[in-house]
Amino acid sequence: MTLKIDGERLWSRLMDMAEIGATPAGGCNRQALTDEDKRGRDLFCQWAREAGCEIRVDAMGNIFARRAGRNKDAAPVISGSHLDTQPTGGKFDGVYGVLAALEVIESLNDHDIETEHPFEAVVWTNEEGARFAPAMIGSGVFCGEFELDFAHAIADKEEKTIGSELSRIGYDGDEPCVPFPIQASYEVHIEQGPILEAKDKPVGIVTGVQGMRWFDIVIDGSPVHAGPTPMEMRQDPVRALHKIIDRIYELTEKRSPDSRATFGDIIVSPGSRNTVPQQIKLSVDIRHPDENTLEAMEKEMRQVAIEEAKHADVDLKIDVIWRSSAVAFNQNCLNDIRRSVEVLGMPHIEMISGAGHDSVYVSKVAPTAMIFVPCERGISHNEAENADPAHLTAGTNVLFYTVLNSAKRIGVS
Ligand SMILES: [Zn+2]
Repeated sequence: MTLKIDGERLWSRLMDMAEIGATPAGGCNRQALTDEDKRGRDLFCQWAREAGCEIRVDAMGNIFARRAGRNKDAAPVISGSHLDTQPTGGKFDGVYGVLAALEVIESLNDHDIETEHPFEAVVWTNEEGARFAPAMIGSGVFCGEFELDFAHAIADKEEKTIGSELSRIGYDGDEPCVPFPIQASYEVHIEQGPILEAKDKPVGIVTGVQGMRWFDIVIDGSPVHAGPTPMEMRQDPVRALHKIIDRIYELTEKRSPDSRATFGDIIVSPGSRNTVPQQIKLSVDIRHPDENTLEAMEKEMRQVAIEEAKHADVDLKIDVIWRSSAVAFNQNCLNDIRRSVEVLGMPHIEMISGAGHDSVYVSKVAPTAMIFVPCERGISHNEAENADPAHLTAGTNVLFYTVLNSAKRIGVS
């Protein structure tokens, strides 16, 4: 008999959790550290306790529900995501990853399976960054990306801080928020994009997360009258702008299919139809899953911008707004997932995540990888977010087999 998780229990728990903060349009509003978030956390802890777990809460409110292993000193395998949502969020983003991990615990119990390593289902605090910015703050402090004091002092629009809200809802835990030895960390998540659905695959093995870099390219010319000034006597920033955009598209397409370039905002000043612009500010967002390639893209972007500015006889400045490194997930973790899809005969593809997740930070302190399942029409951060129960079951079965492997199921080699 093949071991399987209980897809119906998983689905009914997803629907129970979705009741908390349910919106009229069928979504969820369960923002971090609100009363709704507290009720969601309480429900998770109740289920985990009923499944025999021991629960720890750390100083950032991250929750760890542990199913014991044969060797209590062995480093645990962990899996989880987040329970907080966007203000008009869906039922699956984050929640699925938490409840899939809990379902693995239930299934280990159902099948009376003992593992060498403990297994923990994890809830990370404030992944969304909707009420408290930045995003992924619970996993970020855990992994040393942010200081605890800095995180506790972050305030929402009503000046309520993470620290005070944690204690108000009773999730300012005793455990220090620092990394401990972890055997492996897995996160299952809806894709939040259209690729799996388009390829008709229930499972994506996520090998890494795109790196991204944001810039403002500021081009200065001189504003002159559109009529009397001959073309060759102008310092026109638009002459540089269109060439720069064109050449950034070119250098991006040269590195396809994984490269991205987006110019989401162009501000022309003073913005008058019969005056050559004084200044143009161009926002640039470039992405690639390989850090070296992304570095090369930035270098080439700078080169072409300088060349074209010189050519058009205008001034140029490039401001760095934000850089987020590309993440390559751990090969051993990926191999455990690959073995699981093989054993299960699960159709799948390997892919890169276009969005950030708690696993980006966790991967700094533990061997980490992710599993994606499709979401309807790629829609997420939206009340219409939807997923097929069969896909959610498939992804959780892959997680189950992966945990059997990496937590070392006793009696099976
Ligand atoms: Zn999420």
